[in-house]
Amino acid sequence: MTESRVREAIVDFGRSIFDRGLTAGSSGNVSARVEGGWLMTPTNASLGRLDPGRLSKLDENGRPVSGDPPSKEVPLHLAMYQERAGAGAVVHLHSTYSAAVSCMRGLPADSCLPPLTAYFVMKIGRLPLVPYHRPGDPKLGDAIRGLAGRNSAVLLANHGPVVSGTSLEAAVYAMEELEETAKLFLLLQGRDIAPLNAEMIQELVETFRLEL
Ligand SMILES: [Zn+2]
Repeated sequence: MTESRVREAIVDFGRSIFDRGLTAGSSGNVSARVEGGWLMTPTNASLGRLDPGRLSKLDENGRPVSGDPPSKEVPLHLAMYQERAGAGAVVHLHSTYSAAVSCMRGLPADSCLPPLTAYFVMKIGRLPLVPYHRPGDPKLGDAIRGLAGRNSAVLLANHGPVVSGTSLEAAVYAMEELEETAKLFLLLQGRDIAPLNAEMIQELVETFRLEL
């Protein structure tokens, strides 16, 4: 895909994310790989009103090359790209249900949502919890770096999810699956949940060649 097509795709997906209330105000950021580096949504920009010509362009080490200054959440995206050679795009949102789960006490750190549905297992797999750091803290990038090699998505405590995908479309769809699963998880609080068992997960891993 040419860089101008990638720019248009970021604007289109950004508007779709914003219009459906998946992130509010100027929160959330989206990036996608292009020749020589990646494009990212600028700091203080609403995902609902992006300008394709003003997206931030960064080199492979996350240094700004052109466009408006990038989001301060560059370290999250950089960590994902550096650890995941196959990542073509990264999406980070403050989506309500996932952010709500990120504030719960006592979540299992290795995967904070249970395997409620096959699609969650297929699109997300595991969702490790990253301990709280303030937005923009470089330590947040380091914490993600330790997990991103084995996981395409992570949940930042008291903050929200970061999801990577082979393409922008794949990353956005995986993010939507995560958000829907977080919603189910919260709807099911206090009920007797029957998540997928180990045998069911193994069948998905073998059938769809998942890396879990
Ligand atoms: Zn954030």
